[in-house]
Order: sequence, then C-alpha cells, then structure tokens
Amino acid sequence: MEQRLESARFRYINEVLYTTSSGEAKRMFRQDPQAFSIYHRGFTAQVQRWPANPVDAIISYIRHKPASLVLADFGCGDCKIALSLKNKVHSFDLAPICDRVTVCDMANVPLKDGTVDIAVFCLSLMGTNLGDFLVEANRVLVMGGILKIAEVASRFENVRNFMGALSSLGFKLVTKDTENSHFYSFEFEKIAEASERVNAGGLELRPCLYKKR
Ligand code: SAH
Repeated sequence: MEQRLESARFRYINEVLYTTSSGEAKRMFRQDPQAFSIYHRGFTAQVQRWPANPVDAIISYIRHKPASLVLADFGCGDCKIALSLKNKVHSFDLAPICDRVTVCDMANVPLKDGTVDIAVFCLSLMGTNLGDFLVEANRVLVMGGILKIAEVASRFENVRNFMGALSSLGFKLVTKDTENSHFYSFEFEKIAEASERVNAGGLELRPCLYKKR
C-alpha cells in the first residue's frame, strides 16, 4: 500500500515538474521537502529499467577532454558527473541530494558570464520555461563552449524545430544522435550570445509521464 502511494506521488511530482514553470517546481519542493526525495527515489528506480543511462555517455565524453575544463551540470540530481570527474563541476538542482549541489532554479544560476566550458542538461529540461534554462547556459558559457543535451526520445515531436530553436539561441549543432530508441543526445557549440527576448519557438518538448506499475 505504502509502495503504491509513493509510486503515485512520484508520478504526480514528475508530472508537475514537466508541466509547470520552474518557479512552480521550486515552490513545490520548498513547501514539501519530502517531495524531492520521493521524486529522486522514483527517478532512480526508473533509470534502472533503462538499457543505459545517458549520464554515463556524457561522463565518458568529458573524460576525453582536458581536466582543466570547467563544467556546469544543470539539474544534476545525485551529482554523478561531479563525483566521477576531476574537473571543476558546478552542480545545480532545486534541492540537494548530495553536498555538492548548489540549490537554485537553473533559470538563474549564481555564476558570472562566460565562466563555463561545458554545460550539461542530462534529462533535466523539465520546466515549461526551458528556453530560460538554455539562455542561462548560453550566458555562463564561454564563446566556443560546449552544450550537451540528453533527453528522452519520446519527448521530441519535431527534432528539426528543436535544433532550429537552439540555433536562434546562439548554438551551432556539432553532433546529434537520434538513432537510440530511448534517448536523443545533442552537442552544440556556443557561437553567439543569446538575446533574452529571442522567440525560441520549437523548444517545446512533450512531458515524460511514467506509467502506473
Ligand atoms: N542529470 C541527472 C538528474 C536527472 S533528473 C541525471 O541524469 O542523473 C532531473 C533533475 O533536474 C532533477 O533532479 C530535478 O530536480 C532537476 N531540475 C528540474 N528542473 C530544475 C530547475 N528549474 N532548476 C534546477 N534543477 C532542476
């Protein structure tokens, strides 16, 4: 019974994260601190059902780069990236599940402009205001810096529109992998500053809602 209740709460919290703006999500976690641990237990159980975890591919990509590069992990969860690499990693999330986390809404992170070499969003483009997160990543990245995105494949209605929107935010596509049945991944390079007023239509992604089990 308890297990079923927790699973229902996970599905509800997950749905709120995908279908509201990050301000709303922040409020939910502030009002109900338990919600975050329920969400993370559910997310971890979900990850174990997948054939591979996209964060591992991102970690192995960064391992081949110089350890001097500075990273920002937007929506870091359990900080696997920071815990696996020697690089300086800024780990951002709405609540802390490990002591490496800087708690904030990733629409507004406490970093100066142009101070990050690689920005990562691994399964974390969750709010309806994802344009704000990507504008923020653009702001903190150095010119020529790298943006890595991994997302659940079924969230994409139109990959071309998504890439077009990223392009209007100042990001040039370097590589993409949309062959994987579960996850799509993209690598972009920052080639221009993003204007906050940019109309990045095409960024909308479907929510990833989990089935009742
Ligand atoms: N990147 C990690 C965790 C993915 S789960 C991994 O791949 O394992 C998605 C994470 O994004 C959650 O921890 C959630 O709390 C966080 N998140 C969602 N919206 C956020 C926001 N606006 N600001 C900061 N973190 C956010």
